[in-house]
Parts: sequence; structure tokens; C-alpha cells
Amino acid sequence: MPSFVKVEKCDGCQSAPRTACQYICPNDLMVLNREIMKAYNREPEMCWECYSCVKICPQQAIEVRGYTDFCPLGASVIPMRGTDAIMWTVKFRNGTIKRFKFPIRTTPEGSIDPYDGIAPADRSKIKDNFLMGEPDLLEVSELPTVKK
Ligand code: SF4
Ligand code: SF4
Repeated sequence: MPSFVKVEKCDGCQSAPRTACQYICPNDLMVLNREIMKAYNREPEMCWECYSCVKICPQQAIEVRGYTDFCPLGASVIPMRGTDAIMWTVKFRNGTIKRFKFPIRTTPEGSIDPYDGIAPADRSKIKDNFLMGEPDLLEVSELPTVKK
């Protein structure tokens, strides 16, 4: 079920060249109507419900219509992103509200070395079928192959 924008909350990211929701959507679905400065999901049926736009929107203007088993009609699941935690507000159909807070990182932003502990790439293996770090990072000696 797709994301949708609550127009009364959206401020068009204050005329930024590219809005936060445009920046983050992996499927390039969010667009901004510059006449009214409101964003919208231009192809709802293509939405992956990844919640990325929901989490990044600074105005909390985006919601996702969850599947009914996860989020029945009248209920909602809304995240609020902080610098070190994310708070999920879950509203049940009977009006009950529960909040769950989870840490989203344990290290300062920008402090992680993405290649820490990974051996430098061996350029002589550029044509083999392994992805970086395989098979060592999978802790196996070899990967299964199709018998010919
Ligand atoms: S990120 Fe939020 S406030 Fe910014 S344009 Fe998208 S919906 Fe509007
Ligand atoms: S939920 Fe994900 S796929 Fe759908 S519009 Fe938002 S960012 Fe794009």
C-alpha cells in the first residue's frame, strides 16, 4: 500500500531544489508540485512501502497505508526520526496509542570506517563470480556451484 502526503503538513521542504522525499525515494516516486509547494507520490502502485520518505520527511507529512493485517483501516504507524533513535507511534483502531523507541546508531555520525576489517580488493579477481569479501566474510571455504 502506498505512501501518501498529508498536504496540510507538507511545506515543500521550503523551496529546496530537491525535497527530502525526492532525495530518499529509491523508486523516484515523489515529486513536488511547485505551484502549490506540495509533494505527492506520482505512481502509488509502484511504491515499495519502504517507509524511507516517511522517516525522512521533516514535517511528518507522509504516511503509508499499511496492509490491513499490519495496519487495519483507521489505524496508523508513524515514525519520528531523531539523531540517535526512532520513535514509532502505533495507533490502534480503538484509539489506543503505543510508542516504541529504538536506537538507530551507537556511534557518532561519520565515524564508521566502512572497510574496517575488510581486506583490500584483489584486482586480479575482478572477473571471478564472488562478491566483495566472499567467501571469507560468509565464513565458508567456498560457495556452492552448479555441477556441470
Ligand atoms: S519531505 Fe515532507 S515536507 Fe518535504 S516535500 Fe516531501 S512531504 Fe513535503
Ligand atoms: S515508501 Fe519508499 S518507495 Fe514508497 S514513495 Fe516512500 S520512499 Fe518511495
